[in-house]
Amino acid sequence: MKTLIPVTVAYGDGIGPEIMEATLRILNAVEAPLTYETIEIGEKVYQRGLSAGIEPQAWESLRRTKVFLKAPITTPQGGGFKSLNVTTRKMLGLYANVRPCVSYHPFVDTKHPKMDVVIIRENEEDLYAGIEHQQTDEVVQCLKIISRPGCEKIVRYAFEYARQYNRRKVTCFTKDNIMKLTDGLFHKVFEEVAAEYPDIENEHWIIDIGSAKMADTPEAFDVIVTPNLYGDVISDIAAQIAGSVGLAGSANIGQQCAMFEAIHGSAPRRAGQNVANPSGLLLGAVQMLVYLGLAEEATKVHNAWLKTLEDGIHTYDIYKEGISREQVGTREFADAVIARLGQQPTQLKPVQYTAAAKKSITVNLKQTTAAQKATVGVDIFLHWKKGSAEQLGESLKDFRNGELGLNMITNRGVKVYPGGIPETFCTDHWRCRFTTEEFRPVTYQQILTLMSEINTAGFDIIKTENLCTFDGKPAFSLGQGQ
Ligand code: NAD
Repeated sequence: MKTLIPVTVAYGDGIGPEIMEATLRILNAVEAPLTYETIEIGEKVYQRGLSAGIEPQAWESLRRTKVFLKAPITTPQGGGFKSLNVTTRKMLGLYANVRPCVSYHPFVDTKHPKMDVVIIRENEEDLYAGIEHQQTDEVVQCLKIISRPGCEKIVRYAFEYARQYNRRKVTCFTKDNIMKLTDGLFHKVFEEVAAEYPDIENEHWIIDIGSAKMADTPEAFDVIVTPNLYGDVISDIAAQIAGSVGLAGSANIGQQCAMFEAIHGSAPRRAGQNVANPSGLLLGAVQMLVYLGLAEEATKVHNAWLKTLEDGIHTYDIYKEGISREQVGTREFADAVIARLGQQPTQLKPVQYTAAAKKSITVNLKQTTAAQKATVGVDIFLHWKKGSAEQLGESLKDFRNGELGLNMITNRGVKVYPGGIPETFCTDHWRCRFTTEEFRPVTYQQILTLMSEINTAGFDIIKTENLCTFDGKPAFSLGQGQ
């Protein structure tokens, strides 16, 4: 008898229970050697007042099995509740979100018959760090955090994935023409890592024109690696233009744990009607079987599913007169897949997974040495609504501590002092930059003394950012217009 592999399962909200039941029935029919621990997540847990949407005991199951098959949940809108999806990905270190978006022409209607793109989205950082603050009456802020190890893990994963699945090219999407430090780091690490994979083509696109190209000519892309927010947006677009968001599965992979899901949400309006397409979650489950080394079962399920599509057995979301043969519900679709286990598609390309794919993508980070860091100034952010940029500049220019003095003021990033122009719109949120001439080092005590004087003069300091050089190079952005 085969040893059973434990998997944690959550049925989720909305259409979640229906598509999970359909998926598990197919996994049972293929005799996948799995045993399930069920946990409760989502709406009911939020309603019990747990703002994380998950019971503390559920983490024990996840940490024990290290494999999570998760149906979509409904995230309550607005303040107080944190997205469980984001929390789970981060708590379990699931840094790589792998979203294959494939067209199934001519059986599923699409404008892009040759599309076969895998989006590899960074899953732990970027604006999804979820660190937000209201700082003044008029301004709120969200921190975009990008780390070198975070970039290196996801970029290496993308190249390893390309090698493992015989993909020819990895494309990086960033917006580093604007975010030179954060997206700039992602791009830089991409170039460093790409140089180690001469067998795989590499390229970089600015995200705006890159995603326009992807929406227009997706066959120009193969594997796309990109930071968290961009990846979230473009993978929904990619899945939709391939045929339907209801068709795409998603794997969230970490060094120790993994989570598998559909890319779509809980579609509450379709809940309880036996109409939802279970394909996204089923393809997530196929990725799970591959990850667990159950290549034979993964191959059988995937091919039976392709054959079902090919036979025109379609749920409402992909049903089309002239293409489809029969419109079926969630349960009947699962029955059709089960009836085809062991069959192969004849027109769509059959898949063949190998046991070698088991958990096999490991990523080893390069050692880096700490740089010589020096503090050369400070950005002091003020909440101030008493007058013009010129007036603020004039009232701050005499605050000095040693060499440390006012260098410039910006409002929402654009320089407004000295030499601002009246056309620039200003809010009540001012960044006042104090540095030495030629960025010579200062002590933190000098900064504290300066801040203390500004505070005593009645200014409302919201926060500060130290200005540093690393190995002598300034490591902060200039003001726009500087
Ligand atoms: P959604 O993906 O749930 O649904 C959008 C529309 O797509 C639906 O109205 C439906 O017409 C269609 N659709 C989606 N999945 C389908 C399927 N399997 N079969 C047939 N049609 C399908 O997006 P939404 O309405 O913006 O979000 C609903 C809830 O889901 C929200 O609370 C959101 O926060 C949550 N959500 C959860 C996850 C997750 O758990 N991973 C992901 C995204 C959204």
